[in-house]
Amino acid sequence: MKVITIPCLLDNYSYLITDERTGEAAVVDPSEAWPVMQEIDKRNLSLKSVLCTHHHHDHIGGVEDLQDAYGDLKVFGFHQDQKRIPFLTELIEDNGNFMVCGSQVTVLHTPGHTSTSIVFHTEDNIFVGDTLFGAGCGRLFEGTYEQMVHSIDRIISCGKDNKIYFGHEYTELNLRFADQVDPTNPAITRRTAHVKELRSKNSPSTPSTLEEELQTNPFLRLEDSAIAENLSNDGQLQGEGRIQVFTALRELRNHFS
Ligand code: ZN
Ligand code: FE
Repeated sequence: MKVITIPCLLDNYSYLITDERTGEAAVVDPSEAWPVMQEIDKRNLSLKSVLCTHHHHDHIGGVEDLQDAYGDLKVFGFHQDQKRIPFLTELIEDNGNFMVCGSQVTVLHTPGHTSTSIVFHTEDNIFVGDTLFGAGCGRLFEGTYEQMVHSIDRIISCGKDNKIYFGHEYTELNLRFADQVDPTNPAITRRTAHVKELRSKNSPSTPSTLEEELQTNPFLRLEDSAIAENLSNDGQLQGEGRIQVFTALRELRNHFS
């Protein structure tokens, strides 16, 4: 399986999963149809499935046009999103499996950004939608802090060698925030230099690896004593524990620009 990153809209990423032997393709979160169709035509692929991480328009905006263009598509999404993504054809439950491009995909329900967000795990690839970003995590529109921490823990438990394919290019700003809350972490300095170089060439910072996120993403470093100490010294921490650290970080990030 090979994954192709497709920039869409202003800062969204859709992903094409391809099986080079058969030419079969699946698309994750098609924000809009035409950049996806261009890629499919250029590579002579045959699109069979669409994978939807959540119902926000910037992740599903291209699905109906793709259905019109390619006909009989399987559109996979979380069973509880049936009303919000009316064109789903395959309703998947938490821990459910299905096959695309000759590989098994496992679905994890990861509430937080929305109450019905899911991530797709296949081989060593995790498509996280807006649950995680490079060095950051999604805003909590519907879930609680506890739910989001649990959702991130589930992604972490998939193993550090997995690649993380996120839904938006927010990595540079996220790294500036990470540096503010975790200023003595040399991995953040290194990643900032690397991402700056990528972005200067207009290359995406996706995918990262879970290992990279564990080293640089404050939302995955809730046990880190330096982060907690900094938050506490700044009067941001209400009590002890991972949920409190996550809450303080998320609140600060909401107002960071
Ligand atoms: Zn979203
Ligand atoms: Fe989004």
